[in-house]
Amino acid sequence: MAESFLLHAGLAPLDREIRPPLSGAEALAEANRCLFCYDAPCTRACPTHIDVPLFIQQIATGNTAGSARTIFAANVLGSSCARVCPTEELCEGACVLGDQHKPIAIGPLQRYATDHALRLGLPILTPGPAVAAGTSAPTVGIIGAGPAGLACAAELLRQGYRSVIYEQADQPGGLNTFGVAQYKMTPGAALAEVEALARSGLDIRCGVRVGKNGTVTLAELESRHAAIFIGVGMGAIPGIGLPGEELPGVWDALDFISALKLGNPEVIKLVSKASVAVIGGGNTSIDVTTQAVRAGAAKVWLLYRRGPAHMPAYPHEVHLALAHGIDMVYHAVPRRILGSEDGQLRGIELQTVPADGSPADSRSPSDSTVVLEASIVVRATGQRGAGLAAELPVRTTAKGVVEVDAWGRTSHPRYYAGGDCTSGGQEVVNAVEAGKRAAQSMIRELLTPLGQVDAAQAQAE
Ligand code: SF4
Repeated sequence: MAESFLLHAGLAPLDREIRPPLSGAEALAEANRCLFCYDAPCTRACPTHIDVPLFIQQIATGNTAGSARTIFAANVLGSSCARVCPTEELCEGACVLGDQHKPIAIGPLQRYATDHALRLGLPILTPGPAVAAGTSAPTVGIIGAGPAGLACAAELLRQGYRSVIYEQADQPGGLNTFGVAQYKMTPGAALAEVEALARSGLDIRCGVRVGKNGTVTLAELESRHAAIFIGVGMGAIPGIGLPGEELPGVWDALDFISALKLGNPEVIKLVSKASVAVIGGGNTSIDVTTQAVRAGAAKVWLLYRRGPAHMPAYPHEVHLALAHGIDMVYHAVPRRILGSEDGQLRGIELQTVPADGSPADSRSPSDSTVVLEASIVVRATGQRGAGLAAELPVRTTAKGVVEVDAWGRTSHPRYYAGGDCTSGGQEVVNAVEAGKRAAQSMIRELLTPLGQVDAAQAQAE
């Protein structure tokens, strides 16, 4: 089988991000194209409402540190979001210049400013004056150091409230560190931003599992903290019931991305020159396909049960995958995963069904069965709720998604939640906004009254 054309072409290897950073001259030229619109549509399109014209103007006038401050004031993960946001669908998609010319490259400019601040070790968060001092000051326990948990802790600190983040993994960052494809953001880039937040005063404790079989129980958290924020993300991708799914070489999409992202040498060797079949049609499935090619896979198929018009993945992500040589197999229904006599994965059998809207499970004479000789099969068919969700004293849906209102309030008055565990899977920027809003909500409803009482007591003493 032919080797990956990307490797032959000398394109970015596994350890580099796909979009190179802007040089100073490029950033200046791009910033000077901006019209600095009043009531800017780009700002309105950003879930965290970053003041885009202001930060671009600050770059244009040489105030790069000020530009980073503007970005981080609205979004403490501004550097990560500059890399992973679907800007084509959000700020850049709303830019007024997109109609006649080329939209402003808002994502790369945001990365230019935020990377500058991180490189120089500038503070990205200013803690507010403590609302109440002393051991009885109200604090928040945050479960999960992913984007939502970090954003929640940062907003609390900005307003003078302390929190403790309990993270079960040995590194913070959640999906930014482990689950976003490496070609979009390296683990180093994700961790640099978290480290800057920790330097500003966030208390992040890794390797701490919450729950009845964990290091800390929920009852202990409730006794330590006035409020609890749930930011645990989603859980594993469940099996889809295919015969042969237990064979070695069948992967959960997030485990696959994580292994490549963290540079697992065995997995990198396995993927190099392999044939990979990915089942799915959402953005994660596209990430897997593109990541597999960039890791040296010789052939990558995406198997999607419907046609291109129904594919939930963003069009720009699909174009990127196609540019990497992915073979899209539409109207494909996997039937079984095939193993060899010695128990190794040797392929996947699928049925291609007519694109006439007839149910995928109905067989007809025009249906055809195809066998793809794949050595790796990746399931990217949607996650279920995190395991901890079942233990929480809050209402969840049948899929284990935590139910919240627009302010992150759950069915329990002391529990708030945000991020993927409440949305089922959205963008990092949505998780940041959800964490921020939940922090504002708990300050308003729980912490301020407690803090005021505490401060009054402290004064009386
Ligand atoms: Fe600049 Fe485009 Fe935003 Fe207007 S819409 S402020 S031109 S980035």
